[in-house]
Amino acid sequence: MAHIPNAAGRPSWRASVLTLFPEMFPGPLGFSLVGQALQAELWSLALHQIRDFGIGRHRAVDDTPAGGGAGMVMRADVLAAAIDEARSQNPDLPLLYMSPRGAPFTQDKARALSQGPGVMLLAGRFEGIDERVIEARGITEVSIGDYVLSGGELAAMTLLDACVRLIPGVLGAEESLAHESFEGGLLEYPQYTKPREWEGRSTPDVLMSGDHKKIAEWRRGQSERITRERRPDLLRSKSDG
Ligand code: SAM
Repeated sequence: MAHIPNAAGRPSWRASVLTLFPEMFPGPLGFSLVGQALQAELWSLALHQIRDFGIGRHRAVDDTPAGGGAGMVMRADVLAAAIDEARSQNPDLPLLYMSPRGAPFTQDKARALSQGPGVMLLAGRFEGIDERVIEARGITEVSIGDYVLSGGELAAMTLLDACVRLIPGVLGAEESLAHESFEGGLLEYPQYTKPREWEGRSTPDVLMSGDHKKIAEWRRGQSERITRERRPDLLRSKSDG
C-alpha cells in the first residue's frame, strides 16, 4: 500500500490497533507533542474493535482454556477475522502482539519501527490469546517489561509513544534525541535548570563555564558512571555489539 502524504508532505506513519477497548485511545497519545503530531497527521491511528468479529448474538470473543484452569482465552477464529480485516487495510505493517512472554521492547526496536511504515498491534485481555493464531498469522510477541498488566492497551500505548516521538518533525529539537537514555547504549547524564542555587544545592560549575568541550566531557563521564552503577548490562551489550 502506498504511503499517504500528509499536509507536511511526508508519508504518515500508521498505527493500527486491535482491541476490545478502542475507546481507551488515543488516551495519553492525544496529548502534548505526540497528540499534536496526531493532529498534524505526522502519524495516524486506526482502531479495530475485536468484538465486531465475535461469535453469536453475544459476540463472544473468548472461551475457557483447553485443558482447564482459571480465566478465559481469546479465540483464534475471532482474532484471525479481526486481523485479516485490519491487514486488508494496512497489509504492509508488521503485526505485534503485546505480551509479557514477548521479546523485550527497547529503544533500538522503537527506532527501527519509527523508520518503517508503521505498526499493527494486537492488545490481549483475559489470560491471553489462542496460540494457534500467533502461529497462523506470523505474529511477533513483544513485552514492555517483566510484569503483567491486565490488558495490552497500555502496553500498546507505551510502544506507540516511544515510536511516534522518533518520527522526524514530532519533537522540536531533534538534537535532544541524540543524548537521551539508551541512545549510544548509555543512560542520560543528570540535567539541571534554574535557579542556580536551590535548597543549598548548586548546579555543577562546569555547566556554567560556557566551555562546550568540557561540558560534553563531563556529561559523557556522568552518563558512563550512571550506566555503570544502574545498568551494567547496557555496557556489556555495548561491548558485545
Ligand atoms: N496469562 C498471561 C501470561 O501469564 O503471560 C497474561 C495475560 S495479561 C493478564 C492480559 C494481556 O495483557 C495480555 O494478553 C497482553 O496483551 C497484555 N500484557 C500484560 N502484560 C504485558 C507486558 N508486560 N507487555 C505487553 N503486554 C502485556
